[in-house]
Amino acid sequence: MPQEFQILRCFACEKFQVHHVKKAKKWQCKVCGEKQSLKKAFFIGSSRDCRVNVQQLNFKSGQQKMNNMLGQNNHHDLDDAYFENDLLFKHTFR
Ligand SMILES: [Zn+2]
Repeated sequence: MPQEFQILRCFACEKFQVHHVKKAKKWQCKVCGEKQSLKKAFFIGSSRDCRVNVQQLNFKSGQQKMNNMLGQNNHHDLDDAYFENDLLFKHTFR
């Protein structure tokens, strides 16, 4: 069985990143090193699929931040994309 990977987002620096799927409910951010509990994975799949998706997620969140900073009111398309991603990819951990 191939190793599964998941996309997690750091609550501190808000970066999406790929991690091995494992039993532990704790993980450490690769970007800022913050330790945190595993709440949800935005995507689960092969490492290749995760890499592609994590790039898209970080790109979108970067764009949204940029729009917010500029005070623009035209990010409805991004919101819709987020909503679709949530429906497709959200896995809730209890
Ligand atoms: Zn972080």
